Amino acid sequence: MRTLRRGDRGEDVKVLQRALKRAGFDAGTIDGIFGSRTEAAVRAFQRANGLQVDGIVGPKTWAALAPYMAVEESWLRKGDRGPYVQMIQLALERAGFSPGALDGIFGTRTDAAVRAFQKANGLQVDGIVGERTLTALKPYLTGYVEYTVKRGDTLSAIARRYGTTVEALLIANPRENPNLIYAGETLIIPLPFDVVPTNIAYTSELTELIAEGLTARYPFLTRSTIGNSITGSPLLALTIGSGSKHVFYNASHHANEWITTPILLKYLEDYADAFATGGRIGGVAASRLYSGTTLHIVPLVNPDGVDLVTGAIDSGSYYQSARTLAAAYPAIPFPSGWKANIRGVDLNCNYPADWEKEREIKFAQGYTKPGPQNYVGTAALSEPETRALYDYTRAHDFALTLSYHTQGRVIYWKYQEYEPENSYAIAQKMATTSGYSLETGPANSYAGYRDWFIQTYNKPGYTIEAGLGTNPLPISQFNTIYRDNIGILTTGMDALLS
Ligand SMILES: [Zn+2]
Repeated sequence: MRTLRRGDRGEDVKVLQRALKRAGFDAGTIDGIFGSRTEAAVRAFQRANGLQVDGIVGPKTWAALAPYMAVEESWLRKGDRGPYVQMIQLALERAGFSPGALDGIFGTRTDAAVRAFQKANGLQVDGIVGERTLTALKPYLTGYVEYTVKRGDTLSAIARRYGTTVEALLIANPRENPNLIYAGETLIIPLPFDVVPTNIAYTSELTELIAEGLTARYPFLTRSTIGNSITGSPLLALTIGSGSKHVFYNASHHANEWITTPILLKYLEDYADAFATGGRIGGVAASRLYSGTTLHIVPLVNPDGVDLVTGAIDSGSYYQSARTLAAAYPAIPFPSGWKANIRGVDLNCNYPADWEKEREIKFAQGYTKPGPQNYVGTAALSEPETRALYDYTRAHDFALTLSYHTQGRVIYWKYQEYEPENSYAIAQKMATTSGYSLETGPANSYAGYRDWFIQTYNKPGYTIEAGLGTNPLPISQFNTIYRDNIGILTTGMDALLS
């Protein structure tokens, strides 16, 4: 963002005024004019935030305002870096304007690609990714556009125009008579690429766009919000299937294990596509899984923690407080060693399964206060993220759960003396298909989601430690990890069907 001072005008002044208002400082009318009231509000904000009180909005004041800005107001331009730049690069590439490597660095090639995209879309050609350019790029992240049918249109003509197929159009727009479309009707047009990216860093924003895109392209999927994170990000649940056996897969309890989020989302996309086209997944007919089971997925249990690790949260009050907490644990790299939620509670030590024992163990290891990992919280379910999973689990009768973590290529299948019926047999099938090894459960470990699920319901619940290496595993490992896990993810449903 450019530096703003009294006398400036423009869209970015409106962004400033809206952010000040959300932060509780009245800048008067949101008119895009930096006048005396806006200046007074800036000075008051600077004073309240320990900044130099000069009434000028430079990088430090912008950074302090960031938490009060909507994502679409956080404009990107040449010189910027991070996961939002990478997301824009992906959208540009999909739109046919190559930004070079998807490296998260807004350099010369990305700048040229933005300008070419703007020109082709009738936008102001300034190389700045602001609200209008973002809106125009959004379909290349969600994977669809809406189109109003005109007199004389046919599905095959529309399909041709957007480079898609009649089959894909009918999947997204189901109807009794596949030859009938009506002038004035709004159609979902799936764009000719997969929605779920497997080559860029994940953020809560990207996950929301993907969830929106998948449910639009595959209308038999459902999407709901089961709670909110500390910063207010939605905790999304997606479901597929019409069967009576409900199963639950979750990922990214731990922030620096975020590669597990695209694993679940990719599987969902492949399964939905296989079902819609009469195909198979993991060697099993998708229709069999669909009619026998209902799969529930929470792909991102810890959105704030993931945003911290991948750099989407890199300034502002949440970032500063996390960095302060991390400073008490200097041996753990920041933010790459961060597993906890944004206020330093390890979500997988926060479930009501012998939580007191877990507390004793972790305290003895020195994890006595909030930090990057292993702090159990002030009580079981003290965090909104664990509470949401707990409530969601209690509201459903899950026959089986999978919790995705990295790393180790291990399947944990047991909790203490609990050995649910069929749990071992199913785990053996999962081990065979993946090549992962089977272990009963980490010794002296309590209060995880799987621990609580098994203890409470005495049904099969697994922790999958996917991949090998140092967390966060690089996204370049995605294909290998996904290939190893398709069988596990399919078995989690198939093994329940006779
Ligand atoms: Zn983990």
